[in-house]
Amino acid sequence: PVILGIESSCDETSAAICADGVMLSNIIANQTIHEAYGGVVPELASRVHQQNIIPAVQQTIFNAKINKNDIDAVAFTRGPGLLGSLLVGVSFAKAFALAKNLPLIDINHMQAHVLAHFIDEPKPAFPFLCLTVSGGHTQIVLVKNYFDMEIIGHTQDDAAGEAMDKTSKILGLPYPGGPLIDKYARQGNSKAFSFPEPQIPGYNFSFSGLKTSILYFIQKNVAQNPNFIQDNLADICASVEHRIVTILLRKLTQAAQAYGITEVALAGGVSANTGLRQGLQQLGEKMGWRTFIPKMEYCTDNAAMIAIAGYYKFLQGDFTDQHVAPLARMPF
Ligand code: ATP
Ligand code: MG
Ligand code: FE
Repeated sequence: PVILGIESSCDETSAAICADGVMLSNIIANQTIHEAYGGVVPELASRVHQQNIIPAVQQTIFNAKINKNDIDAVAFTRGPGLLGSLLVGVSFAKAFALAKNLPLIDINHMQAHVLAHFIDEPKPAFPFLCLTVSGGHTQIVLVKNYFDMEIIGHTQDDAAGEAMDKTSKILGLPYPGGPLIDKYARQGNSKAFSFPEPQIPGYNFSFSGLKTSILYFIQKNVAQNPNFIQDNLADICASVEHRIVTILLRKLTQAAQAYGITEVALAGGVSANTGLRQGLQQLGEKMGWRTFIPKMEYCTDNAAMIAIAGYYKFLQGDFTDQHVAPLARMPF
């Protein structure tokens, strides 16, 4: 089957075409309008989705070298995400399916981040663990089958991506800060400054205490030296990144050992982070795991992951109908 995938949960408008499990195109329109605001402004995000959705779909059909009549089903992100943003993608998917008399497939965005590992080879074998780290979520997921996933650990407050973005805001960098922290960290010394590791039970996480300690650390030092941030930017970024990565990988290691799992994957926007990617790879070599690190274009939000998830739901005959509505919160 040929699946059109649509993603609009946050600030990326994306459309992809997948034919029999092979990704033919994946168009991602990023929104730059939020940079000045230090975070995504929901009302602005939905307006830009409105502008971008039809061009993105036309471009992805063109790039895939198919005709729009070749499409067999429309898969779309139903949630979780910003309601106004989701509404644009859901409404487009419903309208397209109605016009072309096609089945609709609703997809959970967080499951799709995990299923991005089924776009290309090598694919993980069930059961595997996936550390999903993004702007809104931090989860250790036990993946038993395509749509049989259990969250065995999650953040009690901020997500890992949020910790990156809030740190960058404290440092006066624009949104989203994750990629900038990554860039500056490459030139810095990760041992220059030490930030606390929270003691949280089980496989859960907490990042809000870290954020506060970074804020106090910066305020204290800037009071003594107004140029503290400029003088130490690379070292600060390297040290913060190092702490976030060690927190994530320690819990992942504990979970893998407790569940006896040796197939370990990374997903979500923060999996684009160089330190995390290298850290998991080295850890995997040490622990004897098979590790799966997504291609860059499949880390942050994209419709390819929605299309591949749609493909597996299509094979199961799992469709939804025109009454479907988006969900800001959507459990597995
Ligand atoms: P969710 O998936 O939880 O709904 P989201 O869709 O906003 O949230 P993604 O697009 O998957 O999240 O990821 C965005 C996050 O990834 C942002 O917090 C961003 O700073 C972070 N990020 C992107 N690239 C990097 C990088 N190279 N290093 C660190 N963080 C990064
Ligand atoms: Mg985003
Ligand atoms: Fe996401």
